[in-house]
Amino acid sequence: QAFLTSVEAANPTLNAYVEVTADKAMDMARASDARIASGEGGALEGAPLGIKDLFCTEGVQTTAGSNMLRGFVPPYESTVTANLWRDGAVMLGKLNMDEFAMGSSNETSAFGPVKNPWKSTGSNADLTPGGSSGGSASAVAADLCLAATASDTGGSIRQPAAFTGTVGIKPTYGRASRFGMVAFASSLDQAGPITKTVEDAALLLQSMCSFDDKDSTSLDVPTPDWTASVGKSVKGLRIGVPREYVVDGMPAEIQALWDQGVAWLKDAGCEIVEISLPHTKYALPTYYIVAPAEASSNLARYDGMRFGHRADQFSSLDDLYATSRAEGFGKEVQRRLTIGAYVLSAGFYDAYYVRALKVRRRIAEDFDNVWGQVDAILTPSTPSAAFALGDKQIDPLTMYLNDVFTVTTNLAGLPGISVPAGVDSGGLPLGLQVIGKALDEATVFQVGAALE
Ligand code: GLN
Repeated sequence: QAFLTSVEAANPTLNAYVEVTADKAMDMARASDARIASGEGGALEGAPLGIKDLFCTEGVQTTAGSNMLRGFVPPYESTVTANLWRDGAVMLGKLNMDEFAMGSSNETSAFGPVKNPWKSTGSNADLTPGGSSGGSASAVAADLCLAATASDTGGSIRQPAAFTGTVGIKPTYGRASRFGMVAFASSLDQAGPITKTVEDAALLLQSMCSFDDKDSTSLDVPTPDWTASVGKSVKGLRIGVPREYVVDGMPAEIQALWDQGVAWLKDAGCEIVEISLPHTKYALPTYYIVAPAEASSNLARYDGMRFGHRADQFSSLDDLYATSRAEGFGKEVQRRLTIGAYVLSAGFYDAYYVRALKVRRRIAEDFDNVWGQVDAILTPSTPSAAFALGDKQIDPLTMYLNDVFTVTTNLAGLPGISVPAGVDSGGLPLGLQVIGKALDEATVFQVGAALE
């Protein structure tokens, strides 16, 4: 009830929730109370969560931030949310996001931008909470839920976490089931939590992850107790610092934060190792070929017939498809679908898509080549603090640069966490990222907790 009251007061300003499921929340909370009273409570009993509107929730509208899916009420539950409810969590509502998770500022949402509860000292400008999980990050930072689900295709958990002073982790590809998650780029998409603390992130992630035969890329591996890694000494761990992550035009404050992180881990007994990930500079162009290509294939299902928006006025079957898609999809989604269709088209497939897959392999091999020398890698989460709403909308390429530190782990399938680690000169939060080996979230949580 306390969270619902806060949401009612703050959401008209922040726009973090697209739907508040107050009655459902109270029903779930009462059922949770009853389970606790009878001594059968689960690990998340009664925890009030916000759910990114990308996860299908049975009987509750799921839009993925798009007019295309306005009014779509899924008849089934995503595996990730079903796991959370199994452990006793309570749903407060559905959270705003960039349309189909395409964006870094939450400005591509059909429901309007989300505001960051943080403001820079001496300025009243509204800031972005980042994207695409902007609603999740803003809601957690503003105490409009205890924690939230989010998804990360190229940084959409970690970048908003960094912009709002919260914790966000993307697990190893295949840890969390994609069943019931609205697809963006299937070989990159992973679910994860945004939370206040590293310990909460461990608790939530171990509930969200499970083997699922409804997702053909789900990994049949046990989910460890990651909370056991939180607070464990990092003494003796070898931490890699990749020299290629020093990017052109990186603000001095970001370099200073990174140096500070290195110093903290050194003090805690880690060995710092300079490493090279030589194909890093190709990661953004590779991502912005692979992700749109997969999106153009995935989003072909929105044809105005089986799902979502259907145009009222049309002259032929082809025109029905075209008009429904032109009306239902926003500008950024249309841009991605156009790029995707182009790089997959017969004349350009080898030159762009196949080439990108080869470079993707090189990027993954860069990581494979350093795991003999290091146990985890430390980088900044983002190349800047939260920027003003409206600032980067004019230029999509500048917007894409936001993902420079995060897309590599999606391309390689590795786990990565963003942990709040300091503030910039305007008092805005900044995040550090810890990247781990495949399936080694334990070390990621261990190092992340040491930076907290
Ligand atoms: N900002 C990136 C994009 O726009 C990543 C989005 C995401 O991780 N869902 O594609």
